[in-house]
Amino acid sequence: MNIECQCCGLVLSILLLVLYSGRKQLGLYGEKIFKKMLVVTIILLVLDIASIVAITHQATLPHLLVLGICKSYIAFLVVECILAVLYLLHDVTDEKKHWKITKVLLSVVAVECLAILIAPLHIFSDGRIVYTYGPGAIVAYTSCGIDFIAILIIAISERKRIPKLRWSAFMIWLFLWVVAAVWQFIDAEKLLVGFATSLGMMILYAALENPEVNLNRELGCFNGYALEAYLKQQFGIKRKFFAIHFSLDEIPPETSEYIFRLMHRSNVRDGVWFFKLLGPDFIMISEDRRRYNRLMRWIKNEQKRESVYFKNIQGIGLENGLDVGSPAKFTKVFKYFFNKYNGQIPDSGMEISKEMVEDFLLHENMQEEIALALAEDRVEVYFQPIYSVLSNKFESAEALVRIRKADGSLIYPSEFIPVAEESGSILALGEQVFIKTCQFIASGKMQKAGVKYVEVNLSVLQCEQVDLANRLCAIMCEYKVPTSAINLEITETATLSVKKNLLSNMGSLMEMGCTFSLDDFGKGESNLMYIVEMPVSIVKMDLDLTKAFFNMDRAKHVVRTVVRMAHEMGLHVVSEGVETAEEFAALREIGVDYIQGYLFSKAVPADEFLKFIEEKNG
Ligand code: C2E
Ligand code: MG
Ligand code: MG
Repeated sequence: MNIECQCCGLVLSILLLVLYSGRKQLGLYGEKIFKKMLVVTIILLVLDIASIVAITHQATLPHLLVLGICKSYIAFLVVECILAVLYLLHDVTDEKKHWKITKVLLSVVAVECLAILIAPLHIFSDGRIVYTYGPGAIVAYTSCGIDFIAILIIAISERKRIPKLRWSAFMIWLFLWVVAAVWQFIDAEKLLVGFATSLGMMILYAALENPEVNLNRELGCFNGYALEAYLKQQFGIKRKFFAIHFSLDEIPPETSEYIFRLMHRSNVRDGVWFFKLLGPDFIMISEDRRRYNRLMRWIKNEQKRESVYFKNIQGIGLENGLDVGSPAKFTKVFKYFFNKYNGQIPDSGMEISKEMVEDFLLHENMQEEIALALAEDRVEVYFQPIYSVLSNKFESAEALVRIRKADGSLIYPSEFIPVAEESGSILALGEQVFIKTCQFIASGKMQKAGVKYVEVNLSVLQCEQVDLANRLCAIMCEYKVPTSAINLEITETATLSVKKNLLSNMGSLMEMGCTFSLDDFGKGESNLMYIVEMPVSIVKMDLDLTKAFFNMDRAKHVVRTVVRMAHEMGLHVVSEGVETAEEFAALREIGVDYIQGYLFSKAVPADEFLKFIEEKNG
């Protein structure tokens, strides 16, 4: 009997099923279809062997039994082929759509199987070669052929959407099948199709469905790859889930392992997926709200008991399985709130609400917008003229950044500067503003019109850079901009390390000839010591303080005192946000040196600014 190949295939497939079932799985849709294919492969091989045995002994067995086994075998061949189509399709359709297609295909298979059962089937056996033929076989082989063509068409047309590895593994499997079928057709003694099927399953397992790939070896829980696959599926079908994130930043690795094992062993484990990401991050996911609540409660209780291990954990829960857009953004949402509420997250954890997710998505979109604007050169610098009371002329200007969106509209700094500061892109953005300002100054037109210098805003993050002075100096050298044409605006910062670097940068830049302004003076909780410590030559009174001067009697005393104090220190004063002639007159009266505000002009593009200056300075 010619059943060696099938027996080998059967042993392989059973081993594979045992191996596969014994491993931890996420219950992904693809995993489920793969398991079904594996089971059908085993049934197929058993029936293949049984049909050969039955045909060989047909003289001693009832004809109906032999025929039944042969028909079952070719019917399962049809089922296997359809499963292969479904397995391939699950990559290019979401679960709901896939389920609809599955229902249609299974109905077709049911009809085909019925046809195979009813249609006559003939058996050929000469002792050496055995095969079946007749209408039943024609139905089965035609159906397999159509599935085969369907697989080829899907694989070719959807190549871009099917993951590369899955695509290649599938192609190898198809190739094996074709070789086995052709070989078997030419040399009917070699019954290779069954073996080729099990070999194909081996390939799919090794390349795609090996659960080991999804596991963290040390802890035995899932890893980042698994999380990505899981989220891709959940976002695809819009299924709700609840997640908790833990960052164990300050906890030594042994302790974090201990905490994980404790959670894993406790009764909160059921129905909860644990993912260990790179670094100190853990994500726990449950599709059941009660389990999620139980998990949060359990953590809180552990913390109440003052378990040393739980003291430093900060947990953030994501309610409602809110869709954050993509797997890549999923872990970012937690990081974002960790950073945003740094130090304010209670030990018992914090839940991210729908509004918070919206805030995060806005932040993310703005971050992408900034990155794109930088890459596509859509960062623009506008200039706002500053009037000198003493010379009666516009002697300086402030450079203010804007982002031109791809659709041509503008985004203002209040929308993107906070995001750029949070994400760090303010460094690149600040440098762009400085380069563009230098390019403008280098044209010489501004000086001709009577403007002596441009004030450029520096963010706290820029001031912290150890090499800030060198960077700015290199840019000024490149565009041959005299250092006296640059005044840098700094704002208050409470951090000592920033102050230290800032002072050293200021020292170097002042040595070269740059000057500094203290921006936003009087805004928020201003610290008078700052004006004492920082070697600035200009104090810029914030818009709020300017407005308060006209609305609150007590503010009048403050503003007058600030102006006198600045003058006594040898500093000049700029009033920002001056909008009316009355405001202008009153501020001039108390001795403000420079006036900046909509009374004269908003910040405008370079050419408009030059036109304004040439006109006004005459
Ligand atoms: P700031 O440095 O205090 O700039 C003054 C802001 O007040 C500007 O807003 C300006 O357009 C606005 N302003 C001027 N006069 C008036 C007025 O009469 N009435 C009113 N209501 N507003 C007036 P803008 O351009 O939206 O900039 C806002 C802030 O964004 C700036 O405040 C600054 O802190 C920041 N910023 C702007 N450009 C840059 C930059 O290149 N780098 C950094 N780090 N920050 C920048
Ligand atoms: Mg400013
Ligand atoms: Mg200001």
